[in-house]
Amino acid sequence: MVRFYGNTIGPFAVIGCEPRQARKGAAVAVDSGAECGWWSCHQITFFSEFRIMSYQVLARQWRPGDFQHIVGQQHVVQALTNALNQQRLHHAYLFTGTRGTGKTTLARILAKCLNCEQGITATPCENCSTCQDIREGRCLDLLEIDAASRTGVEDMRELLDNVQYSSNHARYKVYIIDEVHMLSKHSFNALLKTLEEPPAHIIFILATTDPQKLPATVLSRCLQFHLKNLSVEQLTAHMEMILQHENISFEAAALEALAEAADGSVRDGLSLLDQTISHGNNQVALSDVQALLGLSEQRFILTLLKQLQNHQGQGLLDTITQLAQNAADFHQVLEQLLKTLHEIAKCQVVPEYPCAETIKSIAREWGKEETQVYYQSALIGRRDLPLAPTPRSGFEMIMLRMLAFSPVEKSSPPPPTPQKKTTPPPQVQQPSPSANMKDQATPDTGWQGIFPKLALSGMAKTLASYCIMVENAENQIKLLIEPNQAMLVSNEQRQTIEHALREYYEKPIKLLIEPGTVHQPSPFHLAKQAAEKKQQQAIDIIQNDPNVSTIVEKFDATIEKGSIVAID
Ligand SMILES: [Zn+2]
Repeated sequence: MVRFYGNTIGPFAVIGCEPRQARKGAAVAVDSGAECGWWSCHQITFFSEFRIMSYQVLARQWRPGDFQHIVGQQHVVQALTNALNQQRLHHAYLFTGTRGTGKTTLARILAKCLNCEQGITATPCENCSTCQDIREGRCLDLLEIDAASRTGVEDMRELLDNVQYSSNHARYKVYIIDEVHMLSKHSFNALLKTLEEPPAHIIFILATTDPQKLPATVLSRCLQFHLKNLSVEQLTAHMEMILQHENISFEAAALEALAEAADGSVRDGLSLLDQTISHGNNQVALSDVQALLGLSEQRFILTLLKQLQNHQGQGLLDTITQLAQNAADFHQVLEQLLKTLHEIAKCQVVPEYPCAETIKSIAREWGKEETQVYYQSALIGRRDLPLAPTPRSGFEMIMLRMLAFSPVEKSSPPPPTPQKKTTPPPQVQQPSPSANMKDQATPDTGWQGIFPKLALSGMAKTLASYCIMVENAENQIKLLIEPNQAMLVSNEQRQTIEHALREYYEKPIKLLIEPGTVHQPSPFHLAKQAAEKKQQQAIDIIQNDPNVSTIVEKFDATIEKGSIVAID
């Protein structure tokens, strides 16, 4: 559907991509009436300042149209192909798996396989009118319902009342119900009634991230397929293939970092890739990815482990300083460290275990006992971390304990002896600016007060950190996100944050996230500013300290600014 907006700077329009995913240089696309409300006039004007060109986000553009192009999930594809070739059909299929692994994509391909006019097949012809209609999303016999939305539930009732009517044109009337676990009890009962005596022309394809919430009666009537999270290798290879096709240059390490951050989800991975491309001016460099991910600690963890392996005590402390400068949460860093050590241990026992190349190389170099000792140290460290004076010092001690236990190889060079002229890494006690800020700005009502208390991690946390709160009503919260980060918004992430808000307030809350001009600093910016300010204050204090000055003069020493550490 093409729309023109006459009331903005020049008319513009188009394309089949969701408006919230449009980005700088992309046409604002509006392909359904329902989505029109997403953009205010202001934002439409904002985008109209850019050259209009056809652009689809990568996840859409590269959504597979047939089984051959599905990334990973070979076990599911094989089972479905066999069933289709042998015409063993079921009335209800259930696809389970975490977000962005391809559940609805598989469902649409299956619908095409069932309805291709050339016959039921695992390789639909793509030419008949039904294949075309399904591909273009206008097949009247393919009904998609998102059970997570309220309208989904209302549609559901009406829809199940109408199942007895035959299909319009296609062989089967196919119902795809996404996030099926969200259906109301009433809807489940109606669905169950249909599943017990399904009309011959009806096929249900259900998808859910949370199969445990489905009634056993529904589960038992479905043929279930579980979609696996994608490995870092699979995601990296997929991104590499896309970038080669798109003629965009990239660094291999950048793709690996993106794949790790995507945490098994193709959609998240491609969304991050999209962002990196727009940040990095049409190329994908590791530095851009690191800047984009910001909050991702995995890179640091791998650096720490390598330094541990090489007995680089000073290096370890430097990396921890960098983590602190990035306002890292040391509890989370420790969690991540444990996860990584677990991966290494698995990799050592099962060499073909799918994991990142860096982890594999560490796994090869370490002894199994070594990994166990480190893991044990980290585990005990996690127990004791709350008792440490600061999370950072606690984390430092954990790493130093690991270093003390790590075996020194005879062949490796001895650790460098500290030079006598270097001043010891000073630690500065000073008030935390962020704590002051919180006191002044009514902590629990502002987003910067609520955000740190929400149980969020990964993409959802990154997304929330770019937001500010513009409405906090009884049962509804509205966040604004910077337009250039709006691509991070997906329904799953929104639901994750909504869920965290419900837990925090202990009441039902509806969350809206809209792109818009963010007129106050987001938690991301506040954390960045606070870390920079704190570091500068620490440097100032050290440089002006009379004792330090005496040492500098007496021993002809220099202050290594990088070694100055602001502590909480
Ligand atoms: Zn066909």
